[in-house]
Amino acid sequence: MSQEKIAELILSALDVAVLDRKADGVYTVLGEPPEFYDRVFPPDGESHCADPWRHSYMLEFFHATAEEFFSGNDRGICSSGYWEEEGLCDEGQAFVAEAIALKGAKVITVRLLTSSFAHHAAILRKAREQLLERRLISNTLELYKRKALVDDLTKVLNRAAFMELLTTYVHRANEFNEPFSIVMLDIDNFKKVNDTYGHQAGDMVLEALGKILRGTLRRDDVVGRYGGEEFIALLPTTTSKQVLRIAEKLRKGVEDYVFSSLPKITVSLGCSSFIGNDTLTSIVKRADEALYASKHNGKNMASFH
Ligand code: GH3
Ligand code: MG
Ligand code: MG
Repeated sequence: MSQEKIAELILSALDVAVLDRKADGVYTVLGEPPEFYDRVFPPDGESHCADPWRHSYMLEFFHATAEEFFSGNDRGICSSGYWEEEGLCDEGQAFVAEAIALKGAKVITVRLLTSSFAHHAAILRKAREQLLERRLISNTLELYKRKALVDDLTKVLNRAAFMELLTTYVHRANEFNEPFSIVMLDIDNFKKVNDTYGHQAGDMVLEALGKILRGTLRRDDVVGRYGGEEFIALLPTTTSKQVLRIAEKLRKGVEDYVFSSLPKITVSLGCSSFIGNDTLTSIVKRADEALYASKHNGKNMASFH
């Protein structure tokens, strides 16, 4: 089979008529056009219709666009988009025309979108709309989920989310005897900050603290807002030997932080590490007691229970 014949077969299977541009506004139909072509654009005498725009208002309009496109481009495609024209095509049918310029060749293709194609296109469009809608819903859910887990001001986990995570850690540690530690932290004399500089300044301190904690700890560590001005951190794999050193690093990080137009802020910390048969309550209670000891012994310090 000749290459020309193969090309012709492919083109007819695709329902595409190809018009070759010989000169400005002068076209010939390439090969044997698909069945619809002669029906929609009746031939003049012997040959197939070389100026189908005579039969269609829309194609006439596109023809002008195509000529303009060819005069300015040696490469590229300009599409008519999807069009339906009463009287030209049956219900559910539509056309697409394209002006294609490539390596000196300039052609216009005219394609009939049959009713079955139009039907498929409608199904695809519907499926795509559903997909987009689903994605939108899932993104919104994700946003809500994140909003529900993360404290707006400090950008660390809220208490409920943190405690849920800590609960699973306690279970896991009991099952696999995996070490982990927690650190509780309370701002020293925070009431005074609020009273002297205003609640907004207090909020700014809390926001900065969230940043300092997240920035000082490792990626796997988790920080939560335990109460108004109390934070709590979960340090996976951290043992009782290591935790006090990390707490001290946090303490120093806060102490060294320079708040604009505020005096030095300090925090007190209490640590505890997992021991066999710990419960959520028991491990948090030890950290809380250690924090109390830090406050009692002069604040701006870390203690371990
Ligand atoms: P101590 O050193 O003993 O901890 O003294 P303190 O003044 O920090 O005392 P306490 O921990 O009891 O004070 C908690 C204060 O934290 C009271 C409240 O006004 C303030 N606070 C709690 N939540 C917020 C908040 O979201 N924003 C602001 N600005 N302040 C808060
Ligand atoms: Mg407090
Ligand atoms: Mg306090």
